[in-house]
This record gives sequence, C-alpha cells and structure tokens, in this order.
Amino acid sequence: MDFSGKRVLITGGSRGIGRACAVGFADRGATVAINYRSNNDAAAETLETLNGEGHSMLQADITDPEAVEGLVAAAIDAFGGLDIVVNNAGIWVDHVLEEVDYEEWQDAWKRVIDANLLGPANVSYCAARHMIERGGGRIVNVSSRGSFRGEPNGPAYGASKAGLNAMSQSLAKRLAPHNITVGVVAPGFVDTDMAARFQDTPMWEDITTQSPFNRIAKPEEVAAAVMFLASEGAEFSTGAIIDVNGASYLRT
Ligand code: NAP
Repeated sequence: MDFSGKRVLITGGSRGIGRACAVGFADRGATVAINYRSNNDAAAETLETLNGEGHSMLQADITDPEAVEGLVAAAIDAFGGLDIVVNNAGIWVDHVLEEVDYEEWQDAWKRVIDANLLGPANVSYCAARHMIERGGGRIVNVSSRGSFRGEPNGPAYGASKAGLNAMSQSLAKRLAPHNITVGVVAPGFVDTDMAARFQDTPMWEDITTQSPFNRIAKPEEVAAAVMFLASEGAEFSTGAIIDVNGASYLRT
C-alpha cells in the first residue's frame, strides 16, 4: 500500500491502535496528524517516531463538538486538505448493572456514547463536508467485536460500537456519490493500554485463549485492516466491517 501524498487525521493517534495506524501510514508515505485528548508526552513520543516530514499533533477532546470543528479545520490548515480520516479514539467504562447506582449508570452511558459515537459522528460530518468539496476521501472507523458479541460489563460500549457500525454503513451509502468511502474495523482484544488493565487479573487467561492463536491482537494487525480500507483498491469495500479478532468470534 502506498499513501504518498495522502493527508491523514487519526483521532486518538497518540497511543495504542491509533499510534500503530500513524506509524503505518507514515511508513507508506502519508503525512499524519495525530489527535489526542490530554497525554501530551505520548503524542510527542509518537510524533517523534514517525517516518517522513510534516506530521503534526493536535490536541482536541472529540466529545466537544466545537473542539472537533477546530480539530478538522486545523488538520486541513496544516496540510492544505484531508484525504483520510480514522475515527479511532474511544473509551471503555465499566458499569456492571448490579454494582452501580443509577447516577453512575447514566454517567457511564453519557461518557461512552459521547466519546465512541457522537465524537466520530461529528468528526465524520466536518471531514466529509470538506471531502465533498475536494471531490472524495476515505473514512475508517474503529469499532469492536463487542458490538456483535455483547459487553456484559460495559453495555454502553457495546451499544456505542454497534451504533458506530450502523452510522458507518448509513454514511457509506450517503457519501458514495461523493467518492467518499466509509469502512469499519472491529477488533477483539488488542495489546494496548485499554486491554492492559486485565493483565494481572484472573480474566487474562480467558482473554488470551479466546483466539485459537492463544494471544490477543497486536495494534499493527488492526492498523493493517485500517490501511486496507483507506487504500486505493478498497473503494468497493465501502460499508464493510472487517473483523480483526483472530477467529475468537465468528459471525456470518
Ligand atoms: P488506548 O490505548 O486507550 O488509546 C486511546 C487513544 O484515544 C489515546 O490516544 C487517547 O488520548 C485518545 N482519546 C481517548 N478519548 C479521547 C477524546 N475524548 N478525545 C480525543 N482523544 C481521545 O485505546 P486503544 O486500545 O488503542 O483503542 C483504540 C480504539 O480501538 C478505541 O476506539 C477502542 O474502543 C477500540 N478497540 C480497542 C480494543 C482493545 O482491546 N484495545 C478492542 C476493540 C476495540 P490520550 O492519551 O490523550 O487520552
């Protein structure tokens, strides 16, 4: 895959899967804007490791609609346009129904839907309006296996990612006439900070044996699917949801 001359914005590009995407796109010739929420050091470290010139790091909280508008505008300003957007930033919040009070329950739903669904919806809006003007583009959204398999400890997370899948497929239809594709990658457990909190728990053995490979995914394996959907030959895969879960959950 060759992304020479392509300008890419990756939300949550400072750590984990977003970072692997940033490295992958930069290795293949793209100019990359790494968005992050608050961890300046991680963003700076990622920026430092990217091959090539002209990359940037852009702080913005994607749960703030005004900040999203500013983020997309800043990326367009920095690069003179945007070709590819990866909606990768997302959060997990534990909210086991029998253990949380009603206030905590509502708070978890609000935070998760804001970050995992409304954030990508607003980024997609701002980016797509620009892409329509410039004649096309690629949007790739990072969802989760949990959208299909259920998340008993985090139902808002499962619902947010199912919503992200449905939003992506609706936008794939809406935006195809504008030469804009919208694809989804749905990973199972991936070796990032988000999954690391399970490492010293009794759940870890179950997590690592869910796949017949007896391991969880590497961030680079998710990035490979993201880059495929953003690549030149993948136009007709718009609306597709690619599983990256090591055959831990097979759906038809
Ligand atoms: P991670 O290691 O926790 O990194 C999260 C990234 O998102 C960081 O760059 C963080 O920035 C950024 N971020 C979080 N909230 C943000 C906000 N409101 N505004 C802007 N940036 C924000 O996460 P990850 O494991 O790489 O996950 C990336 C995506 O993959 C998420 O959508 C997640 O749901 C999905 N996913 C992950 C797994 C897994 O097992 N890891 C499995 C399935 C799906 P700061 O560092 O500044 O906070």
